[in-house]
Amino acid sequence: MRILIVEDERSISEVVKAYLKKEGYEADTADDGLRAMELFNESRKKNAPYDLIILDLMLPRLSGYEVCKQVRTNSSVPIIMLTAKGTESDVIAGLDAGADDYVIKPFSPRVLVARVRAHLRSSTGAEHANENSTVIKIGNVDIDITAREIRRDGKSVNVTRNEFLVISTLASKPDKTFSRDELISKAFGDDYEGFDRTIDTYVKNLRRKLGGDNSNDYIRTVHGFGYRIGME
Ligand code: CA
Repeated sequence: MRILIVEDERSISEVVKAYLKKEGYEADTADDGLRAMELFNESRKKNAPYDLIILDLMLPRLSGYEVCKQVRTNSSVPIIMLTAKGTESDVIAGLDAGADDYVIKPFSPRVLVARVRAHLRSSTGAEHANENSTVIKIGNVDIDITAREIRRDGKSVNVTRNEFLVISTLASKPDKTFSRDELISKAFGDDYEGFDRTIDTYVKNLRRKLGGDNSNDYIRTVHGFGYRIGME
């Protein structure tokens, strides 16, 4: 597994690289956004694309948002953003640009490595393989818990790990309305240091990817409370 670390603070990228190496991952580092795009494009040309990207948002030459958008034009590689503490709007902008997840600085390298592991596991689909085979249907959408796949009219829809966790959590209890806090703790676990508004971004992305015509398709907004699955 090869990981690209994009971070202009060498002290951070070196520590992260050392931790990833200890876990058996190979890692390259880029000090700025343009260099990141060079490495990303080269890796694709060589037919050895990166398995995951760790991406700082504040970067010289090309911002992390731009890198994210450019990568997303032709790749669904998991992207974990690194962002400064207390910048909820930055996090939301990053998720909008197509990042899968975020870790807030200063962070523990162990936490970051755990997130990396979780994303790599889910992109190979093995994480929940021991659960009973379950497919939950919402209209023309199938949520395949076992395969960790969302299908619309039988065709696979490309969702990120966190988007999958959000919709599968909602679908697991179709009668229940979840508050944002509850959804975070059920979907991501209690140690997830998330802003509750990021759930809104995941929901918005899911509705868009599923091709809903209006804002209540597939996932219903319960005003003043949270969300529930939109069973017809
Ligand atoms: Ca930076």
